Amino acid sequence: MKQYELITKTAEETSAIASSLANKVMSGDVITLEGDLGAGKTTFTKGLAKGLGIQRNVNSPTFTIIKEYKGGRLPLYHMDVYRVEDEDEDLGFDEYFHGDGITVVEWAHLIKDQLPIERLDIKIYYEDETTRKIIMTPYGSHYVDICKELSNESIGN
Ligand code: ADP
Ligand code: MG
Repeated sequence: MKQYELITKTAEETSAIASSLANKVMSGDVITLEGDLGAGKTTFTKGLAKGLGIQRNVNSPTFTIIKEYKGGRLPLYHMDVYRVEDEDEDLGFDEYFHGDGITVVEWAHLIKDQLPIERLDIKIYYEDETTRKIIMTPYGSHYVDICKELSNESIGN
């Protein structure tokens, strides 16, 4: 599977990439987000929400598995499945994956068998205090197109 790599040098750059991604996603899209604590998952999700035109502040859904944000170009479903105890238990994820909005799933590997086959996997790696490596792995041609566009845009930076 081809991967697309982007390097960011500031939190704002990570946020800007996510905002740009927000312009390319469509209803029913699914993005998984993985990375250690402090890697930039929340920064990325906030950027995505901003790009969708969502005004509300987005933070990690620590005590709930799913948070829904409306009022943007598309609804954003922010999932954190860290507390899901049985990885095969059906908690109705499919309704979100096939819903009107776009879904961002943190800790997605914990429910890997329930994820849609077509999706965009994003991993953020901490390189140093302000540098992050963002690896995007697209599954399906729609997500390949998105990755190509994002890569082309960042060449100009
Ligand atoms: P996570 O949700 O993965 O735990 P956060 O987004 O909450 O991570 O935190 C990332 C922290 O790293 C923030 O304080 C952010 O300002 C900082 N940071 C520094 N450089 C970057 C960068 N290039 N990309 C993303 N975040 C960065
Ligand atoms: Mg977070």
